[in-house]
Amino acid sequence: MTKKTTPIKMSKSRYTRGLTCLKSLWLVTHHPELREEYDAATQACFRTGHEVGEVAHQLFPGGTLIPYENMSYEDQINMTQEAMKTSKVIYEAAFRFDDVFIKADILRKSRQGWELYEVKSSNDAKDYYQHDVDVQYYVIDGSGIKISKAFIVHLNKEYVRESDLDIDELFVAKNVTKVTLERQGQVKKEIARMKRSLRSKEPKIDIGPQCDNPYKCDFKGHCWQHIPDNSVFDLAGNGVKKFDLYEKGIVKLEDVPLDILKGKQRQQAEAALDKKVIVDRKKIREFLDSLHYPLCYLDFETFTSAIPLYDGLRPYQQVPFQYSLHFQKKKGGKLHHAEFLAQPGVDPRKELLNQLLDDIPENACILAYNKSFEIDKLKKLAESFPRKKKKIQNIIDNMVDLIEPFRQRSIYSWKQQGSHSIKKVLPAFVPGMSYEGMEIGDGGEAMEAYHEMCALANKPRKLATLRKALLEYCKQDTLAMVKLLEVITQKARRKII
Ligand code: SF4
Repeated sequence: MTKKTTPIKMSKSRYTRGLTCLKSLWLVTHHPELREEYDAATQACFRTGHEVGEVAHQLFPGGTLIPYENMSYEDQINMTQEAMKTSKVIYEAAFRFDDVFIKADILRKSRQGWELYEVKSSNDAKDYYQHDVDVQYYVIDGSGIKISKAFIVHLNKEYVRESDLDIDELFVAKNVTKVTLERQGQVKKEIARMKRSLRSKEPKIDIGPQCDNPYKCDFKGHCWQHIPDNSVFDLAGNGVKKFDLYEKGIVKLEDVPLDILKGKQRQQAEAALDKKVIVDRKKIREFLDSLHYPLCYLDFETFTSAIPLYDGLRPYQQVPFQYSLHFQKKKGGKLHHAEFLAQPGVDPRKELLNQLLDDIPENACILAYNKSFEIDKLKKLAESFPRKKKKIQNIIDNMVDLIEPFRQRSIYSWKQQGSHSIKKVLPAFVPGMSYEGMEIGDGGEAMEAYHEMCALANKPRKLATLRKALLEYCKQDTLAMVKLLEVITQKARRKII
C-alpha cells in the first residue's frame, strides 16, 4: 500500500471547529504552529475517548477495524470499500466526499442499509455531538452508501460494575436519525462556507464566548494576547456581561465604572484598584471559633476512569488513591504529617480507608479546602465499606471548610483576581509558597501521574520519580492549608490590615 497522502481540507473535527469559529478553522489549516500545547486534562480526554471507543467495539463484536497508522487516506478509504463487501460490522470506516474526510466509529449492516454509531466518552448526549453525526452522514451518504439509522452512543451514568463489564448496560444508544436527516441541507451550506473561508484571508473574528464554548479553543494564547492581567474577564461570578464591556472598549478592570458593579464583583474591582486586602475580622473570628483540637488538614487526590475499573464503581466515579494529612494535637503544638499513596494497578480504596481511619485522631476537627469534594469521596467509601460507616460519618460530621472565609470574602486579596482556588489564594497570602515549578501542579496532573504509574508498573525508576512528585504535591496542599490558617489567625488579631 502506498504511504502517499493526498492533502485534505476538512475533517469531522475541523468541520465542528469551523462551526464554532471560522478563524479557528483557518488558523488550524494555515497556521497550526500557533496552537497551544495540550494540557494534562486535554490529553486525558483524548486518552479516555480512545479507550471508550475501543470498548464500544464490543457492542458489535467481530467487526473489521480500518487502521490509520502508516496508512494514507486513500488506503483507509479503499480498505473500507473492500471490508464493506464481506463484513457486517466495520470500526473506524473511512470516507471522503466534498473534500471532507471522516472516520465513522462503528458501521453495522442491517437489512435496510448501514447503521452509523458515533461513540462519545461522556455520560450523556450533549447537543453539539449532533454536528459530528450530521457531517458523517453527509459524507457517507455522498459516497453512495445508504445509512438507515444514526445513533449517538454514550456511557450510562447509572451503570455500576459488578464483576465483568456488562457492555450492553455500560452504553446507551440514542437514535438521532430524524434530526440528522433534517440537517443535511445545512451541512452542505456550512461546508461550502468553510471552504470559501479557507481560500480567503484570515477571517476578522474577535474574541467572544465561542473561545470557551463548547470547548476552550487552542488558539486562545494567540487571540487573547491583547488582554492584560486584571482585566474585565477576571471578574468572578455573575453580574455584568464581560463581553458587553469588552465591546465598549472597556478591557482593564480599573476602567470599569464602579457603579455598574455589585456585590463580589464590585469588591473585587475596588480591591484591584487600590491593590488592597479586605478583612472582616468578626467573620474570621466566627470561623476560627468553629475549629477545635486535635486539628487535621486533609486532602485527597483521586483518579477517574470512564470505564469502571473495579466492582462497585460507576463511569467517571472519582476514586481516592492518595491523601495527605497534617495534624496538631493541641493549639500551637507540633505539626505532624501522615500520608498514603496507593500502589499502582490495584483497587486503592480499602487500604486507603483503613490507614485514614488509623491516622485521624478520634473526634478531631478536620479542615479541607472545598470540603464537599472530600465528603463525597468519604460517602462513596462508606457505601463500599458499610462496616466503617459510623467512623466515616464521624469524620464527615467534624469537617470544616477552609475555603469558606475566602469564598465569602471574609478575607480577600486583590492578587486572587476574583478566584478562591487555593492555587490563587496561597501565593496571594503566603509569599514564596506556590505551585509554580512543581513537577505536579494540580489535581489533573496528579491524576495523569497516577494513570502513568499504573501503565509503568515494571519501570521502578520512573515509578519512584512519579511517587515522589505525587507525595510532594499532595503534601503541599495540606501544608498550604496550615499556612492559610496561620494567616487568617494573624489577620483576626490585627486591627488594621
Ligand atoms: S480563540 Fe476565539 S477567536 Fe480565536 S480562533 Fe479560537 S474561538 Fe476563534
